[in-house]
Amino acid sequence: MAKGEDRFERRYERNREEKERHRKNLPGADDPALPPPVEPIRNDADAPGRNDPCPCGSGRKYKKCCGKPE
Ligand SMILES: [Zn+2]
Repeated sequence: MAKGEDRFERRYERNREEKERHRKNLPGADDPALPPPVEPIRNDADAPGRNDPCPCGSGRKYKKCCGKPE
């Protein structure tokens, strides 16, 4: 019984470490009290049509160019 629990615990521990690492890459993401990090492209409502040509003049659709989510 103890063996199985130990294994489970180690796995849980590792999972937590990975999540911890993730959080360090996303400042504020771990604190629900803080507002989410502001992203430059967020105004979906008044953004140019996602299927319209990109305003940067690349000739590609906006959603495939500057409007493309990372
Ligand atoms: Zn563009």
